[in-house]
Amino acid sequence: MSEQSTHRTVALVTGANKGIGRGAAEQLADLGMTVLLGARNVERGEEAATALRAAGGDIHVVRLDVTDPASVHAAATYVDERFGHLDVLINNAGITGSGQVSPEDAHDQVPSTVDLDMVRTVFETNVFGVITVTNAMLPLLRRSSAPRVVNVASHAASLALTSDPSGPFSALLPSAAYSPSKTALTALTVQYANELRADGILVNAVAPGYVATDSNNHSGYLTVAQGAAVLVRLATIGSDGPTAGFFDDAGPVAW
Ligand code: NAP
Repeated sequence: MSEQSTHRTVALVTGANKGIGRGAAEQLADLGMTVLLGARNVERGEEAATALRAAGGDIHVVRLDVTDPASVHAAATYVDERFGHLDVLINNAGITGSGQVSPEDAHDQVPSTVDLDMVRTVFETNVFGVITVTNAMLPLLRRSSAPRVVNVASHAASLALTSDPSGPFSALLPSAAYSPSKTALTALTVQYANELRADGILVNAVAPGYVATDSNNHSGYLTVAQGAAVLVRLATIGSDGPTAGFFDDAGPVAW
């Protein structure tokens, strides 16, 4: 049955069965939004959804593998039939390519010796997957009165930060996969924002900070709730809010 008449704000978060995406889903639900919890594995999605529903959230699991266009289009069809529109899209799903290791230990990303297949796999999820999902959801976002797109990048996307030999990234191993994929994502964010500015669709990139999740074997020093806060902030900006920006919890991040 369509729920178009309820006028609840509808938000889709990709990769929301755990980590920062799950944290964002929880916070959006706490704000009273209907949250579509994207998960490539429905059982893992339902596990997370059950916990969030117990706290009162209006949560619906949507099977969505960002690297599988058929699943993305099926998800868009489901959102269309069930809700008729989408207000918020958070492109959160992402992989490091190195598995669950802290950035200091990602020896397999060093440019001169990197496995090109790994680079392709990372870009497939972190960049091409975002294009697939965004383009599939755009017709639904265009039906919203306040559409927002948030792309989850990283401080590792920042050329200003990563090229500073005395900056925080000088202590990390160089990366030919994860870091460039997130730089491509911030570039893509600007291009989408420029295309969609006239339509009132605000598109921004965010850096959640170093958050303790499976992706870094929980070596991060921020909680999931702290990391998710900037996603939610950019997902809920007013119509006079920024577009084509890159933000962390403290404000704009240098490109
Ligand atoms: P995480 O705990 O490993 O969660 C990643 C999520 O993405 C999981 O739900 C995972 O699903 C999902 N995912 C991976 N590939 C997918 C695909 N092809 N289709 C759909 N979902 C997919 O990692 P996280 O730390 O929360 O990361 C979330 C985002 O924040 C990522 O974009 C990451 O790059 C970014 N980020 C994280 C940090 C940090 O310190 N943690 C810092 C900067 C940026 P499965 O459970 O099925 O694997």
